[in-house]
Amino acid sequence: MGNFFKTKLGYFSVVLVLSISALFGTKVTYEYFHFKQNKTYLQDLSQRLLVRAELAADYAILALHEANVSAASTCDVESINRLSGILYSRGNIKDIAILDKAGNIRCTAIASESAVADFNLSEKKTFISLNENIKFLEIGTGKNGLIGISWQFENSGLMALINLDTLLFDVFPSDWRDNSVASIGFNSENPIGARDNAMASEKSLVTYSASSSRYPLFVELSVKKEQLITHQRGNELAFIVGGGILGIIFSLLVAQLLSRPDNPVTLIKRGIEGDEFIPFVQPLFDLKSRKIIGGEALMRWVKPDGEMIPPYKFIPIAEDSGLIVQMTRTIIKQTLEQVGDILNRDQSLKISFNIIPADLASDCFVNDLMSIVGCCNVRPEQIVLEITERQEIEDTKKTVEQIKILKDLGFRVALDDTGTGHNGLSYVQDLQADIIKIDKKFVDFISDDGGDEIVQILVQLAKRMKMETIAEGVETEKQAKILTKLGVDQGQGYLIAKPMPPEEFCAQVDKQRAL
Ligand code: C2E
Ligand code: CA
Ligand code: CA
Repeated sequence: MGNFFKTKLGYFSVVLVLSISALFGTKVTYEYFHFKQNKTYLQDLSQRLLVRAELAADYAILALHEANVSAASTCDVESINRLSGILYSRGNIKDIAILDKAGNIRCTAIASESAVADFNLSEKKTFISLNENIKFLEIGTGKNGLIGISWQFENSGLMALINLDTLLFDVFPSDWRDNSVASIGFNSENPIGARDNAMASEKSLVTYSASSSRYPLFVELSVKKEQLITHQRGNELAFIVGGGILGIIFSLLVAQLLSRPDNPVTLIKRGIEGDEFIPFVQPLFDLKSRKIIGGEALMRWVKPDGEMIPPYKFIPIAEDSGLIVQMTRTIIKQTLEQVGDILNRDQSLKISFNIIPADLASDCFVNDLMSIVGCCNVRPEQIVLEITERQEIEDTKKTVEQIKILKDLGFRVALDDTGTGHNGLSYVQDLQADIIKIDKKFVDFISDDGGDEIVQILVQLAKRMKMETIAEGVETEKQAKILTKLGVDQGQGYLIAKPMPPEEFCAQVDKQRAL
């Protein structure tokens, strides 16, 4: 699955899926917050309606106070005139009545005495406000919104008639009007007025109510849920486009992160698990006779898709991470399983393996090597361990001891990349190797005009220490001739053969033996 994200298809799938999710997520989020915002708006509207109802009551009570102060307590013409004056200056009050001590209507500013004679206030439902002398009365029948607010003084009283129904007309924004219910009541059970659009049976209603702390006033507003979802979605597009763009940026970042190549160490580990590291073998030949006298195992990384990765791309990482120790054993085992037969048939043949100081320092290296060699039925004398000079040896004493053990067991030791590392030529002496490998770099220096000084020194050193010499990277006939003249024993290079699969190496050796 991890690799899928590293393909183009994986990359675009991640971008597509995350972008669609972001768009969808933005839409859902928008809807949620928009709905919440509209619910808050509905709650505000109910508060606003209550305040307006309270103000209407305040206004009426102020008028009663004014009427009381201007001594409108008798039903004479003068008093009625004064009441009418107050009434005209306050448009929303329908009428003002003068009450007797018992609270019955004696006369009103507008209605004639005979019209109010039958009007029995004691039969009306009455609700007390915070100030107990101020009462709210249900005057109208049903829900026509007409109420009386009475204020009882010592010997008389006054009552203002107001219509709260009018407050309900513009309570909602226009697009909610047909899908909403608004009502005002003395409390939740006793309605005064309602603006109902046959919505009572509607189930999906969102309702907010509010009650006055001063007066027996209660308001309730309900709106269909869909209205709260659809109301004022003007900025939706901008919101979703913004969210979508952020989502795409985010998905690109995530896709980038997922498609990032894996850590090379992880890749090598995965390659080890998948048996992707295999040996190639490059023939070593006698410089004079040009006969193959052995081969060097060189590691190759073959990916599942067939791509072959050269050692310089992974060996340094494998060495630094310590994974090389495990890989060295695998390569030795795989090679010996494939070339074991030919080594048995021709016991003069030798096979070389690249070993780094960390291999030698690792636990059980000697034991593991012995068991692999034993399993493949190969004699240690036919195995050469090429120890590279590239890396510094941390524990020279231990390395020298290990080499001695290996040599005592019959293995041969070669110094690889001699003269290229930082150990100097004294190292050749310390390690008591059997063979010096002359690096390709020094072979490349050789030309008609000389350039063979280093090879000369290495050959002299080898002779003095009774060591053999192998020149690497022999590509031309001319190089081969000069190296022979300089006394180098063996060669390795494209002149004879490139590294090849072990079975091909075996076939070449067999062909040579048949000649
Ligand atoms: P090396 O041990 O010095 O191996 C010789 C390198 O020179 C090989 O490169 C070989 O293919 C190359 N070579 C030989 N003859 C010629 C020639 O005529 N012309 C040219 N241009 N090149 C030639 P390769 O196989 O790429 O390996 C590179 C290095 O990787 C090796 O250098 C060795 O240090 C390391 N290596 C390879 N396999 C292993 C392994 O199994 N374990 C360890 N520790 N290192 C390995
Ligand atoms: Ca080598
Ligand atoms: Ca070399």
